[in-house]
This record gives sequence, C-alpha cells and structure tokens, in this order.
Amino acid sequence: MTSISYDRAAKRFGDVVALNDLSLEIADGEFMVLVGPSGSGKTTALRLLAGLEGLSAGHIRIGDEVVDRVAPRRRNIAMVFQDYALYPQMSVRENLAFGLKMAKIPRSEIDRRVFSAAEALGIEELLGRKPRQLSGGQRQRVALGRALVREPKAFLMDEPLSNLDAKLRAQTRGEIRRLQRAVGTTTVYVTHDQVEAMTMGDRIAVMSQGRLEQVGDPDTVYSHPANTFVATFIGSPAMSLVAMSSGAGAAPALTRGDLRVPLGERGLDVPGEVIVGVRPEHCRPWVDGASLAGPFSGRVEYVEALGRETFIGVEAADGARFVIEAEGNVRIGIGDTVAFGLAVGSLHLFDATTGVALA
Ligand code: ATP
Repeated sequence: MTSISYDRAAKRFGDVVALNDLSLEIADGEFMVLVGPSGSGKTTALRLLAGLEGLSAGHIRIGDEVVDRVAPRRRNIAMVFQDYALYPQMSVRENLAFGLKMAKIPRSEIDRRVFSAAEALGIEELLGRKPRQLSGGQRQRVALGRALVREPKAFLMDEPLSNLDAKLRAQTRGEIRRLQRAVGTTTVYVTHDQVEAMTMGDRIAVMSQGRLEQVGDPDTVYSHPANTFVATFIGSPAMSLVAMSSGAGAAPALTRGDLRVPLGERGLDVPGEVIVGVRPEHCRPWVDGASLAGPFSGRVEYVEALGRETFIGVEAADGARFVIEAEGNVRIGIGDTVAFGLAVGSLHLFDATTGVALA
C-alpha cells in the first residue's frame, strides 16, 4: 500500500519560492496529475518526492515513512522523464535489466520481470534492438518498461509524452493509463497540458506560481473551478470572464452596458461587482424558444471551425468578450454581427477582487 502525502512542503531557491506550502494526499493506487503552466512548481514537487531536491520546509511521506531525509535510491520509486534517458549502447533487453542487475536481483527474477514488462508494453519483438533503432513512441515504452521492471512503490512521470507527436501522444496516454490500472501502482504525473490532465487523472492538482489552486476529480474541477485561474486554465477554448454588476431586488440580474442577464431564482446574495464565467458550451447562437438568456449581440472577432463545432469569438456590449460554441461548420465572417444567448443556470460567479468562486 503506497499512499503519498505532502505536508506543507516548501522549496525555495534563493529568493524564488518554487513550491509554497503544498499539502496534498495521494491515495494508494491513485493516478494524480499535477498540472499548471510553466514555472508553477510541478517539477519541483516531483523532484522533492523523488529526493532529487531537499525540502526547505514541511514533510513528505511515502507509505508510512517520512522520507524527508531518505536518499533517492532508498525511496523505491521509479521516475520516467521526457528525454527517456536510455543507454544508447545497450539493447532494449539490457536497458530493461540494467537497474535490476545493479540491485543484484537474481538472474531468473530479472528475466521474469523483463519478459512481463515487455509483454505488458507489447515490445517483446524489440528486445534485441538498440534505442537508435526505435521510434520515439517505442523508446517511450522502453522508458516506461524500465520503471515497470523495478516494481516500485510509485511511478513519478514528468511530461513523459512531450516528445511525441499529437496522435502518438493521445494513443500513449491511453496506454499509460491502462498499464497503471493493471499494475495498480500509485502514480504522480506532471504535465502542463490540461487535456492530458483531464483525460488521465483520477484527480488533478492545478498549480500556479508554486501554489496548489485546486485538487479534485476532472469533472469537479471543470464544473466547479475554485477560482478564475483554474476556470480559465482548465477547458479549451478557455472560459470567458466578464466583469459585471449584480443588483439584488425584485428581479436580480447581472448587467454590463446593455447586457442584462436575469438571474431568476438563482439570485445573488451580495450585490456589487462580480466576475461572470461562461464556458463556450453555455454561450450558444440565438434561436427563438431556446431556454437561454438573450438575445445579445456580438461582433465576430475570430472563427475556429473544427468540423463538428465552430467556436466564434465575439465582442459584445461594453467590450465584454465571449466565445460562442455553434454546432457544425458555421459560415460567418470577421466583423459580422451574431446573436447569442447564455445558459444562465451554468454561469460561474467569482469575487471581483479575489477571483474566488462564489457559492
Ligand atoms: P515547467 O513546466 O516549465 O517545467 P514547472 O511547473 O515544472 O515548470 P518548476 O520547474 O518546478 O516549474 O519551477 C518552479 C520555479 O522554481 C520556477 O520559477 C523556476 O525558475 C524555479 N526553479 C526551479 N529549479 C530551480 C533551481 N534549481 N534554481 C533556481 N530556481 C529554480
């Protein structure tokens, strides 16, 4: 059983606070994704867990053991990097076996583990090849295999797919998840790619500037973002954020210029300034009879036609910007005017000063 916990873990490099009081519990067998933009502290969090950096403050526990002062090789975890780090002069078989030989594992046990990892990864026929005779995707599998044969307490993966092209990346995402489910090993996976995070994580921990902004399962983080940072970082195209005024009273509504969004029964306890968050799927072209607030008028700024849907960026009243999601291929030009409606029940509201989600 390997749970992992960060308890107010912090790391400073001189004046730079790379990781700020991270507290995070990862359950046994869980696939936890650390996601955030460049410089948000994800790699630092992973390197602290691996023991490649020392903590400035706080504690880290792997299983029952506080590992703050435990050497990396004694932590019994396996790290997979984006650059694979395979030994070029060794065959795939030797690459897989190398760490086990160094650890003086008996020959028959090494053979068993290498065969079982190769089988799990579907690379049996590559065992005799050298790394230069492999494609990027195959090298990535060998790198995973090297982690797998160690039968570690946990896998730590730092952007392991970033050297693969888009199609292979999508395929390998699925393979890593299948493999991890099959072996049940606790995994901490670092990426800046929110699609990777959403599709792979049992839970995702969203980070920014060394801080944990929110942790939760992908659905929860997507539908209940804790603040405007998470709201705009998770989801593509990003959620539109529009500053509006809220008025309480008989007919509570959000207003900005001649935009007026009736809140109906939802109401708002506190009148004043709020930030309204609208996902593209909740901002639709206007059709009579639809249960949307509107119609509002927007001037088209850009069009992204993806075949199955079209995203239309518009500027509406008083400079408010929205992204409309329309079905199919929509023929519309930049500068055209489009009528749209908002799904009031699905709007997100955030504090205008702190950006924190309002209940
Ligand atoms: P990326 O996706 O670009 O790898 P990240 O989220 O993994 O980013 P970290 O690599 O953890 O971010 O870096 C967090 C912060 O700490 C950054 O501001 C970075 O410049 C700083 N940092 C990281 N390592 C060091 C170091 N060895 N010395 C000084 N500053 C560092």
